[in-house]
Amino acid sequence: MTDTAIAGGEGYSEPMGHVLVPGELDLSHGVALYLDDINVSFDGFKAINSLSLTIDAGELRCIIGPNGAGKTTMMDVITGKTRPDSGTAFFGQTLDLTKMREAEIAYAGIGRKFQKPTVFEQHSVFDNLELALKADKGIWHSLFSRRSPAQTTRIEELMELIGLQELQHRPAGLLAHGQKQWLEIGMLLAQEPKLLLLDEPVAGMTDAETERTAELFVSLAGKHSLVVVEHDMEFVNSIARTVTVLHEGSVLAEGSMNQVQNDPRVIEVYLGR
Ligand code: ADP
Ligand code: MG
Repeated sequence: MTDTAIAGGEGYSEPMGHVLVPGELDLSHGVALYLDDINVSFDGFKAINSLSLTIDAGELRCIIGPNGAGKTTMMDVITGKTRPDSGTAFFGQTLDLTKMREAEIAYAGIGRKFQKPTVFEQHSVFDNLELALKADKGIWHSLFSRRSPAQTTRIEELMELIGLQELQHRPAGLLAHGQKQWLEIGMLLAQEPKLLLLDEPVAGMTDAETERTAELFVSLAGKHSLVVVEHDMEFVNSIARTVTVLHEGSVLAEGSMNQVQNDPRVIEVYLGR
């Protein structure tokens, strides 16, 4: 298989040389993610219990809920890391997430940020973004192919978006915690995901970094759908349109921050403690 064939959109090349053809993402009905009656058990314990959730195209959704509510497991289901025991999960109108492998789901346009940044510490900000931009073409291509003018422009756009232009030559290992998180978000964005899953993105950030992250997420909404799991209520309040409260693996409440904060069930299980 040649690079031209891959770049021509014929499929994603896995290390084993397997070609995946994930099909087209169809957002024409305005829904990015559709979960219905999802169940996940671990040794008889129901981590996800008849969970139903819809995320619109371009929506910025915040998910809150006490520890153990199933937030991370939900992201594992969406990304194909965990298979649900039952239920429906669609990305757009046509992509059945329960039948796709992790790599296919990522290739189809779902990007996930874990809590711990996974940047290449010895490489500069610029080089990390370049590697991310070329990542789907395989490691050989990433390391040795020449950078096109379009790729250089894209890297500059990404650096501006995440506010790291001035630090473009700095090794990622020397960045502050928040800057590292932004770099990783930039690396995710290099893959042009339609849906971004962010698990506790502002954990460990300073107040100033948290505010900057809020601005970034608000600016990404519209072009991307974002699902943000976060414990920092001030942060959630500053970005949230709709908030979903998870509890014991299902949706306890959904609405504006004000609505969920005043919901007696939410106060009882979560905010009131
Ligand atoms: P949250 O992210 O909301 O804190 P999680 O999704 O991590 O919650 O966990 C939900 C529940 O499922 C917890 O009780 C957790 O201990 C359990 N759980 C999560 N992953 C596993 C696993 N791989 N094996 C067994 N139990 C798990
Ligand atoms: Mg979690």
